[in-house]
Amino acid sequence: CSMDGDFGIQDVQMNSDDVPMKEARPVQVVLAHEDDHHFDLDEEALERILLQEHIRDLNVVVVSVAGAFRKGKSFLLDFMLRYMYNQNSGTWLGGDDDPLTGFTWRGGCERETTGIQIWSEVFVIKKPDGSQVAVLLMDTQGAFDSQSTIRDCATVFALSTMTSSVQVSCNLFMHLQLFTEYGRLAMEEVYQKPFQTLMFLIRDWSYPYEHPYGLQGGNSFLEKRLEIKQNQHEELQNVRKHVHSCFNKITCFLMPHPGLKVAINPNFDGRLKDIDGDFKKELSNVVPFLLSPEYLVEKEIGGSKVTCRDLVEYFKAYIKIYQG
Ligand code: GDP
Ligand code: MG
Repeated sequence: CSMDGDFGIQDVQMNSDDVPMKEARPVQVVLAHEDDHHFDLDEEALERILLQEHIRDLNVVVVSVAGAFRKGKSFLLDFMLRYMYNQNSGTWLGGDDDPLTGFTWRGGCERETTGIQIWSEVFVIKKPDGSQVAVLLMDTQGAFDSQSTIRDCATVFALSTMTSSVQVSCNLFMHLQLFTEYGRLAMEEVYQKPFQTLMFLIRDWSYPYEHPYGLQGGNSFLEKRLEIKQNQHEELQNVRKHVHSCFNKITCFLMPHPGLKVAINPNFDGRLKDIDGDFKKELSNVVPFLLSPEYLVEKEIGGSKVTCRDLVEYFKAYIKIYQG
């Protein structure tokens, strides 16, 4: 693998952590050390982003995309960035030949660091009630592979659940599983109130005749999967009840396969002309849905809305649980 997959925005300021941020880029705020399974929070980096004067006292909406390695999380986030930057133009999805930039993603074998990255630019949007909120985009990199244990992945995952208000999960099964096994313990220590919104994004859906692509198909699929049946294993029933009791709102979206160029061509750089039409169509539905002012709910902790400034303190408190 080469670094050729990194282009555009993040190239501008790769090694300039000590100067004020001018160009938007992904910033690693939580880092997992694979050798000793230790977690670090880069408090300075987090503060540089969240304590900017124009946003620090606004309520925060944290959109996080979580899932295992190579699930297309960064790919999705890059389209979310395109939407945030170009939503007023009819063609936010981009031109046919524009390479995708933003959060690092690459098609090769090289793995990225386990941890949490946030986009350095915090977006300010207006909610339907007229209030202004700060929108933070978060990329969560966990990995089930030889270099990292399932536990590290679960920790990153739990952290992202605790700090976000709109979580997109790219692995249905992993989410349910980890939720009970690890995340749950920590979350119960912190507080009992539910999280806000969870969307399961199922990729490469190949049964559109059973459940059609999109939100409606997704929700009917999810209903079936989360149905609690009498003859089910008790443990499975508990997972389902637990997920429902943790989130105010759970939705599901079924994405088609993006086509072979996206999935296996090492030279694919994200340009639209290499992506299947069906996928682009659903992408142009799911991104504006996820980022609509109605769907972007503010982060709440213990029943109260949280500002960007508060979020810094919660990050510090939560990371301590795992540094224990
Ligand atoms: P991440 O590790 O979850 O951030 O995954 P990336 O966004 O880096 O994408 C990993 C690989 O999956 C890249 O080669 C993408 O082109 C490809 N990819 C992105 N979205 C999809 C998808 O929905 N289905 C399939 N099969 N591949 C995808
Ligand atoms: Mg990634």
